[in-house]
Amino acid sequence: MTKIIALFNQAGGVAKTTVTQNLGYHLSLRQHRVLLVDIDPQASLTSFMGLEPADLDQTIYTALVPQNESTEEGLPIHKSVHGMDLVPANILLANAEQELIFAELRELRLQQVLAPIQQDYDYILIDCPPSLGILSQISLVAANYVLVPIQCQFKALKGTDSLLNTVARVRKRLNPQLKIAGFLPTLFATSNNLDKQTLVSLQQQLTQIAEVFPPIPRATALAEASAFGKPLALCPIKAPHILKLFDELALSIETLP
Ligand code: ADP
Ligand code: MG
Repeated sequence: MTKIIALFNQAGGVAKTTVTQNLGYHLSLRQHRVLLVDIDPQASLTSFMGLEPADLDQTIYTALVPQNESTEEGLPIHKSVHGMDLVPANILLANAEQELIFAELRELRLQQVLAPIQQDYDYILIDCPPSLGILSQISLVAANYVLVPIQCQFKALKGTDSLLNTVARVRKRLNPQLKIAGFLPTLFATSNNLDKQTLVSLQQQLTQIAEVFPPIPRATALAEASAFGKPLALCPIKAPHILKLFDELALSIETLP
């Protein structure tokens, strides 16, 4: 059975895209067939994978909002990009929010376009935008799991209420199967005492809700890798401790109930 995982947090800059890309890569190293779906109009995942969003005619947008009713287009899948398949995005996706308002069964749009190809993959990772809007909602409807990257910052806990409410609402109305795979603390400054305290309180509060995975530390290697347009493991930069963490995360994701 395909595991469809939405990487979701309405806060921006918490490493959703970085985790989508590197978790996906480490799942592919473990011989799984992985599809990454970029559903953020900022298209960071598309760029982090080395594509130029502005050059693309076919994106998740053209699949979600067919431009012409008679030519329903399937998902444009770029095959074998660093060992994974990718559905890219670009800035046109920003129109989808408006254009889907009156679309029939709009909440099911992503689920519907994934359905015909889903059996080709073991894992489909959906990189959500930093909002609670329709693009995140349709991602949660299409997913069986939510993975929540969360920055080790005190204000992070404040946002979790609305995040969990959104998950609860989707579960109640449209997707009762949706599970929280866990929380992944990110951008953890290992030498900062405040971050250490914050991590402890995140762990205390969030373990009641779902598993809290070991934190991903701040590492320039990860920021550099995104600029390179590749997963960290394929970059010349050496950061074995980070690779090990992503490998262990991939293992935890493999064993999700
Ligand atoms: P989001 O998708 O949540 O907006 P990104 O994955 O785009 O977040 O990350 C935001 C920025 O932080 C990017 O420039 C990325 O390269 C950088 N970044 C992500 N994780 C780390 C990390 N562990 N250490 C340092 N920089 C990171
Ligand atoms: Mg992002």
